[in-house]
Amino acid sequence: MTSFKTLDDLGDVAGKVALVRVDLNLPMQDGSATDVTRAEAAKPTVMELCEKGAKVLLVAHFGRPNGQRHSTMSTSFVQGDVEEVFGSEIMFVPEVSGPVVEQAIGILRNGDIGLLDNVRFWPGEEANDPAFADAIAAHGDFYVNDAFSVSHRAHASTEGLAHRLPAYAGRAMEAELKALDAALGNPEPPVAAVVGGAKVSTKLDVLQHLVGQVRHLIIGGGMANTFLAARGVDVGKSLCEHDLTDTANAIMDKADHAGCTVHLPYDVVVAKEFAPDPPSRRVCNVHEVAEDEMILDIGPQAVEALADVLKTCRTLVWNGPLGAFETSPFDEATVALARTAAALTQDGSLTSVAGGGDTVAALAHAGVKDDFTFVSTAGGAFLEWMEGRELPGVAALRS
Ligand code: ADP
Ligand code: MG
Repeated sequence: MTSFKTLDDLGDVAGKVALVRVDLNLPMQDGSATDVTRAEAAKPTVMELCEKGAKVLLVAHFGRPNGQRHSTMSTSFVQGDVEEVFGSEIMFVPEVSGPVVEQAIGILRNGDIGLLDNVRFWPGEEANDPAFADAIAAHGDFYVNDAFSVSHRAHASTEGLAHRLPAYAGRAMEAELKALDAALGNPEPPVAAVVGGAKVSTKLDVLQHLVGQVRHLIIGGGMANTFLAARGVDVGKSLCEHDLTDTANAIMDKADHAGCTVHLPYDVVVAKEFAPDPPSRRVCNVHEVAEDEMILDIGPQAVEALADVLKTCRTLVWNGPLGAFETSPFDEATVALARTAAALTQDGSLTSVAGGGDTVAALAHAGVKDDFTFVSTAGGAFLEWMEGRELPGVAALRS
């Protein structure tokens, strides 16, 4: 796990050109970023390299231009927002290789920052084309990957460059890898995993991997309905993948053999219509769901039992909300269990790592995002890591 180099391993880099892969794919509205979290994450690495006197060339993508120049997807659109976050001027460079880049390097002083254009304008990026990676690498003295969130892709800028230049993990990457290692790679037992969200089908590989890794597998959200149905529970109109009955049963069997306890709710929150505070909302035992009702959250008794489970654990990894948390009051279980996990973390009895787009939103909604040990904002990369896969961009840093 510690077999990759970090910025601590850099020698004197004054005047050297650093190619730094960052995630600046900021969500935008009316020409400015609505959330600068990704730029903030990149800041410590960039500032550290600037202070060491490197010439920092940022390599990033923006949107999905599919290998063509797209006037609306230039990284120049995020330049202003990133400058504001960094508190520093950035020179925009409208290419990723060739004479324009060489010229820019000539103009940059030590400690200055350049921002290359959208690396996905070139088909060689997503194809991980060796010639394309060579052309970019030719400009750099060393490579830093600080973009865990795109490291599940074997692209030229995430994987190819790491094989062509001395490669280092940036500070955000380093923190992410350490946190993930503490949660699943090398965790302190007992370990609990919460897996929720809408569908089993999107997280089959996650569940398959986790049952062999954790002591407790807590299943909530829409996917709990599929597991309940597989056990013969009538889930009424609930979101449920009935075609996955065999799969769900196989996962529960595998868990049994591995000594992993699968926790399904025994009470649930149901309603006849999916709307805010519907009058038909009620709490019932899972065996009492009527045929015109749907399960939209796990129940308060289940939450209490799960809180007791977490109290016996030293490590928690969480992906997926326990209910349809965007609609009140179906956020209650997620909020309550998140607060328990946060309190246990603050008390020092639990290492808690969470990730996933909606999970991050749910933890923010519960007001505990900063109270977990680590919250990953990397959606796809986090899930692939939860599936037990080695991410190509991370693997390339180790070699
Ligand atoms: P993440 O983005 O964190 O990986 P998912 O995308 O898998 O999470 O799932 C989040 C979605 O699951 C949310 O939109 C939430 O409303 C939905 N969901 C959770 N529980 C239920 C349920 N019982 N019925 C319908 N949708 C649910
Ligand atoms: Mg999601």
